[in-house]
Amino acid sequence: MDEHMILVEEAQDIILAHVDPTDIVEVPVWQAAGRPLATDAATDIDLAPFASSAMDGYALRAADLADASAATPVELEVVGHEAAGHVFEGRIEPGCAVRIMTGAPVPVGADAVVKYEIVDIISGDGNEGSLVRFTAPAKVGENIREAGLEAHAGEAVMRAGEVCTPAGCGLLASAGHMNACVHRAPRVAIISLGTELVAPDCVPARGQIRDANAYVLMAQAADAGAEPAYLGIAPDDEAAIRELVLQAVATYDFVVTSGGASAGDYDYVTALVRREGEVLFDRVSMRPGKAITFGLVRGVPFLGLSGNPAAASVGFEMLARPALRKMLGFPAGLRPRQRARVLHDVKKSQARRFYDRARVERDAQTGELQVRSARSQNSALLGTLHHANCLLTVPDGPDGFAEGDMVEVVRLDVPEGVEL
Ligand code: AMP
Ligand code: MG
Repeated sequence: MDEHMILVEEAQDIILAHVDPTDIVEVPVWQAAGRPLATDAATDIDLAPFASSAMDGYALRAADLADASAATPVELEVVGHEAAGHVFEGRIEPGCAVRIMTGAPVPVGADAVVKYEIVDIISGDGNEGSLVRFTAPAKVGENIREAGLEAHAGEAVMRAGEVCTPAGCGLLASAGHMNACVHRAPRVAIISLGTELVAPDCVPARGQIRDANAYVLMAQAADAGAEPAYLGIAPDDEAAIRELVLQAVATYDFVVTSGGASAGDYDYVTALVRREGEVLFDRVSMRPGKAITFGLVRGVPFLGLSGNPAAASVGFEMLARPALRKMLGFPAGLRPRQRARVLHDVKKSQARRFYDRARVERDAQTGELQVRSARSQNSALLGTLHHANCLLTVPDGPDGFAEGDMVEVVRLDVPEGVEL
């Protein structure tokens, strides 16, 4: 192995050691969904704040109905009603009931709610002043949702590091939070390097190609929870690259370039990082995309990926994504790995780790997970990555796999922390 070349895991560790969670900001509570909270969030009131009815019916004292049966019905006087936002302030005395709607607070003195459908109205319209009849006993607590069932005032309803869900946003709102504290989305600068590159709305002249990587990487950054910004294309010119990179490190939390990684160009990017900062590695044992430079430029993490589209994308997935997630406060962890049976031989042409674009699927008959690589692993092809749902990992070293071997795949379609 090339003496500069390090393992993917070593590269991940180096990058992770050079990023920290971003500062804490408040966002409208619903925008915390999918993000880890940066601080514990407590409730200022009991949740629920009052005991409420789980049914439309009558709130009463269960003791009053102790002997109720079809043969010995019990009649109670309706002394008030409770509806959403309308509270009966009195106390329920023996022999009395209050007409109550779902969600309304259970009046003082009542300890059960009997549902409307099994109550006979003897006189009146069922509301205040009516007489109602019961033919069965009620249990204490029947159809009542207790106060403080979820949390008591002062208790945390969510902890720092816990990833908020949509339901969690509602929990925070119930706990009195208009805003939630999260780590600011890291701002990621995306720069494309190459004299041959033109924008997607240009028809390329001979020798030119459209900048595809910027859009792949922006989408991946956004998917990782970051806030991407496209800073444009720099031609293969040292001064132009330097200007754009220095502009990027002045404003952004993380800088990603693609291109300029072929033998001649490559030294440009690495040399720039060395001159303006520090290179921490410049080769990773992986295919696609071994030519990866990571370093600090003016103290800002800089990841220089190879220009081949699949290489840039897999490099971002393996190295930038874990870093951005750490910056967002996510717990450490990678995409889920699975064991699957490979449906063909996998030849190894070089010793470095292969991440082959592949699809893993469960066999309909046997239920077994099976994986098939894309026919071409040419790193210029984005379609094969688009159709892949996983990367088949072929370990560092000379050996490939034979058809039928059990192999490990990295799921690209499943987020970190999901158990498969
Ligand atoms: P490089 O890393 O500059 O040697 O680029 C390797 C290959 O990737 C070359 O064929 C480039 O034309 C291509 N490439 C570089 N940057 C991009 C880009 N932004 N979008 C699409 N292809 C690119
Ligand atoms: Mg180039």
